[in-house]
Amino acid sequence: MSRVLLIGSVNMDLVVEADSFPRQGETLFGHRFATYPGGKGANQAVAAARLGAAVSLIACLGKDAFGDQLLAGLKAEGIDTRWISCVDEATGMASITLAGGDNAIMVVPGANHALQPAQLDAAEQAFIDADVVLAQLEVPLATVEHAAMLAARHGKPFILNPAPAQSLPESLQQQVSLLTPNEYELAIALASQQPWQQLLSSRPAGIVMTQGSQGASYADAQGSLQQIAGFPVLAVDSTGAGDTFNGALAAFWPLGLAEAVRRANAAAALSVTRQGAQSGMPTLAALQQFLE
Ligand code: ATP
Repeated sequence: MSRVLLIGSVNMDLVVEADSFPRQGETLFGHRFATYPGGKGANQAVAAARLGAAVSLIACLGKDAFGDQLLAGLKAEGIDTRWISCVDEATGMASITLAGGDNAIMVVPGANHALQPAQLDAAEQAFIDADVVLAQLEVPLATVEHAAMLAARHGKPFILNPAPAQSLPESLQQQVSLLTPNEYELAIALASQQPWQQLLSSRPAGIVMTQGSQGASYADAQGSLQQIAGFPVLAVDSTGAGDTFNGALAAFWPLGLAEAVRRANAAAALSVTRQGAQSGMPTLAALQQFLE
């Protein structure tokens, strides 16, 4: 099982359920409120840890109650939190309103935007200790670029989940060992309107594209397109499916790309059968049972 280093965001999701959305200046009663730990960095760290990887997370939290709660949650998952800083910014949060089958979301990155390259330099030992490094785009791009550079310096593979969608500088593209977009993120990341099949084939074993219920596709080292069908499951909530896929891919990285994708596809399928992002992520035992 691999030693995975995560660089990314940690958020608290504040979810209100209501009958309708308030208009500007209006106050309404909602009928349910709950908080859920989230952020792509934390979610992917939890996914990898549940699947048995030794996970370290480099991140920033605020010195507030959400920060304390999120840190305790990460520790409870067995994640090494020694490289997480607490800063004078509010902990990252997403305010989510659910009404009439639709949603309205406001994200305040807060402390996540305080994650600067210098913090990675201070955590260089974590790069030395890792088998694989995994990042997303919810922290400053300069920090992601620095992570790619440090991974390269220590000869470690660098997986980048280019979400939320953002175009990637050419220099960063060169340093990514494996890019893991969905179809929309792929076009934006590479700033290309070429068909996805061509984009995958142009980078053998360098891109795995997730395709929701249809599974995932990549071009193997010989450049042949491999389309891995999604597992037929009863989908209840797809929140965090992409994060589960990425965490699993890093956790199973030592098994080689084909096997890592097969298991990530299964872990992510299992996650959609349960409500919530982190709460839906499977353990290694659950995954093994599913694959038997
Ligand atoms: P999100 O941002 O909602 O997590 P995403 O766009 O990053 O989604 P998807 O491509 O939707 O990621 O899903 C990631 C992976 O999850 C897929 O590659 C697949 O393995 C699995 N998956 C998602 N939805 C389903 C489903 N309905 N049935 C089976 N597997 C699914």
